[in-house]
Order: sequence, then C-alpha cells, then structure tokens
Amino acid sequence: MAREPEHIRLFIPGPVEVREEILDAQADWMIGHRSSQFAALYARIQPKLQQTFYTENPVYIYTSSGSGIWESASRCCVRDEAKILHLTCGAFSERWAETSRVNGKNVDLIAVDWGQSVKPEQLADALSHDSYDAVACVMNETSTGVRNPLEDYAEVLKAYPDTLFLVDVVSIYAGGKVDTDAWGIDVCLTSTQKAFALPPGMALGAVSPAVLERAKEVKNRGYYFDVLELHKSHLKNNTPATPPIALMYAADRQLDDMLAEGLEARFARHDRMAEMTRQWVQDAGFAMFSEEGYHSPTVSTIANTREIDLGALNAFLAERGMTLSNGYGKLKGKTFRIAHMGDTQPHHLEALFAAINDFLEQA
Ligand SMILES: *Cc1c(COP(=O)(O)O)cnc(C)c1O
Repeated sequence: MAREPEHIRLFIPGPVEVREEILDAQADWMIGHRSSQFAALYARIQPKLQQTFYTENPVYIYTSSGSGIWESASRCCVRDEAKILHLTCGAFSERWAETSRVNGKNVDLIAVDWGQSVKPEQLADALSHDSYDAVACVMNETSTGVRNPLEDYAEVLKAYPDTLFLVDVVSIYAGGKVDTDAWGIDVCLTSTQKAFALPPGMALGAVSPAVLERAKEVKNRGYYFDVLELHKSHLKNNTPATPPIALMYAADRQLDDMLAEGLEARFARHDRMAEMTRQWVQDAGFAMFSEEGYHSPTVSTIANTREIDLGALNAFLAERGMTLSNGYGKLKGKTFRIAHMGDTQPHHLEALFAAINDFLEQA
C-alpha cells in the first residue's frame, strides 16, 4: 500500500508504533468468518498464542480492546454472594476495580500509592482474613511504570485453589515473560496495541477450565463477553460474533515474527531498552517515578523533576517525527512516559534521547 514514509513515531504506551509489514498484513482479502479458511486461520494462530502466553489453556479472541476482557472476567468469575479482591496501584488497576463495581460485584481493595507495587505480604494478609471468588491485578501498571511481583502473588495463591487469579498483562505480554500456567493464572488478558505492536481493536484472553466451571454458577454473565459462549465457538475454531479478521491476519504475521526473533531474545531486548531509558533518566537529571526494584521493562514513568514544559517538549519532538506521553490522569505534568515496547529498537530510543537532550539544551 502507498503510504507517506514521514510520520510521527509513537513512544506512547499504546497504541504503539506498528511496522509497515504488519500494517500491510491486514490488507488481504476478506473471508467469511464461518468459512473453512477462517477456521484454518483461527487454528493457525491458536498454538502460537498458547506458546507466547506460556499456557495450555485456550486463548480466546475478543472483538474489543482489553477493557472488554476486564468486564468478561469480572462478570463470569464472581458469584453474586461472593467477593472479588482487587489490587490497585495506579489508573488501570483502579479502573478494573471500578469495572467490577459497576457490574454489581462486591469489591474489596488493597490499594497502594501510585508509584508503589503491591506486596505479596499484603495479598497473603487479605486472603487470610476473608474468602474471595477471585483476585484481580494488573501485572504492569502502565500509568506508573510499575511491574508488580506476579511470581510472588502466585506463590501466595497456591494455598487458595478456589480463588481464581485474574491478571491484566496488557502492557507486558510480548515484552516480558508472562508464565501463565506456572503462575496459575485463570484469566490472563491483553490487547493488541501495546507490546504486541498491532493496531488496536482486538483482545486476547487465556482462560482456564476453572473459570468455565465457575461461570456455570454465575447467573448474569451478560452476552457479548460470556466465556461459556466464547468456549463453545472456540471448540469450532470460531468466535460467537464477527471477529476482527484484518487484525487476525496481522496477529498471524506478528506471532511468526516474534517466534523468529525468539521470545527470550525479545524479552532481553525490552530489558535492555528499559535499562537504556533509566540510564538516560539519570544522566539527564530526572528520576524514576516507579518504586526501585519494580521498574517496568516496557514503559518508564519519569518524574518531571526538572519541571519542563511537556507540551513544549512534545511540540519540539513532533518536528523531529516523534512523540512521547504526558503523565496519566493526576500525574499529568508531574511525570512523563516513554514506552519502549513492541518492535521499538534501541536505536529508535537513542534518537529519542538525542532529541530530548537537544530540547533541554535550548530550553
Ligand atoms: C492500555 C491498558 C488497558 C486498557 O486497555 P484497552 O485495550 O485500551 O481497553 C488496560 N490495562 C493496562 C495495564 C493498559 O496498559
């Protein structure tokens, strides 16, 4: 397809920069979603999704952004008389807790200050005092740049086999290892426009058999995001409603490219880019907003300690074909965010840091 080579490269944490090969992969002819070609496409993608999620559970395709699976998990995993425990540490984890609340669920919170991680001891303490149908958390809190200690939560939850473990891995899947089965995750959810580096519009959820059992005991699961319906279709390599076929073409291609790069190599590249970013933060006289020891491998939230004008910075960067992200919500102006995820390479970041340094010198 003909497209202008000049564009603004995205260093925002979603949607992220998408490679031309991926944009082009979407542009193939449409097929009917009840055709055998579609079933073949679905079946071709499935094992690659399972491999990248480190799971043997089915990975359902949801025609929505990631928030749709929040709603699915909140609704299908918690019975009326029971409770869900949400761990919150920033904007996205708070919004998921709100999603449970507006769906009529009884919500308890472990809430820590933005920038901090939730500690496994806090989870262990809450579980020892009350009983929950599910625990919900965000592995990589994109607003604060915190990567929560999922492997430690998994250890704590081993003692509670009846409590489902629901994890939002939206901004870390395909950028850092998400060991779904080893960590006993029952709903592991992501969307396409973060480290997977596809355009937005599709979400993916690895769902355990325990979730299907629980869902049978929940009366009002809704229609569009009912896991039992998704599972029925999945068994036929299909989806209940019309799926985002163009995005599935892109996913098919991207999964091949990810596996060709090697998952471990891909995660190492993300770690390297995160380290480069933290080094630049230090050299440029800023500070990390996220708690030491819990920095995200895919997005850095940087305290605006030099109190620079972030609007002016982005205007300067736009002239050079780049953009980064202001702080999220109440962190606007106080922090800024650099996404180093997806198919972004170290040399792209070097160009970004050079441009920011130019801005700082002329300011
Ligand atoms: C972006 C993001 C979401 C929201 O996902 P959508 O795909 O926009 O619905 C949820 N959780 C996290 C951690 C995110 O970064």
